[in-house]
Amino acid sequence: MNWQSAKYCRQCGTRLARQWVATDGRDRLACPACGDIHYENPRILVTCLVEWNGLLLLCKRAQAPAIGRWTIPGGFMEMQETLELAVARETMEETGVVIDPARLDLHIVSSVPWMSEVYLGFRTTVSDPKITVGPECLDVRFFDEAEIPWDDLAFPETRGYLRLILHERRRGRRAINVTRIDATGGYRREYHIASHADIFQADVPTSRVRLEND
Ligand code: ZN
Repeated sequence: MNWQSAKYCRQCGTRLARQWVATDGRDRLACPACGDIHYENPRILVTCLVEWNGLLLLCKRAQAPAIGRWTIPGGFMEMQETLELAVARETMEETGVVIDPARLDLHIVSSVPWMSEVYLGFRTTVSDPKITVGPECLDVRFFDEAEIPWDDLAFPETRGYLRLILHERRRGRRAINVTRIDATGGYRREYHIASHADIFQADVPTSRVRLEND
């Protein structure tokens, strides 16, 4: 787990303590001196699957964790930012690839309850494959499906996500996948939305496809 709760009150600096908040029905971090409640909520991480001529853009991390390993460009949203701008910014910072925020398709919505994070994965296609390796990366490359460095991927969920992408490619499907990522990085698809028509359908069939790590 890579997040840590705050220890001290941002208002007065007193050490925080867990306290029962009856209206919320749960314990929360609160300041015993000034009463300020420190709400903790999941963080939102965005990723961008960039395709050029059928190749997939991956970057090699220059930072811990998983230093020297490949992953999909992405990062945490900043305050006051839109999803689309966060995706374009992270992709630019890490890879130098310019994407059009208006041409992003939502691809995955993943709950990661054990990390208290939510991942929103977008996809887009670019016509200009020009790369500039950003300071957070050691290398950036477009990969053919056969060249994906499976043994050097950064996180178990990177592997799970790439498997999901290839699984969809083989079936020629473009959908919005609503998934849950477990602690081993496995993707469990709760359901997918294949078209706008699905959204308005009363009985969307639930497909549970387990995409194993191996
Ligand atoms: Zn305080």
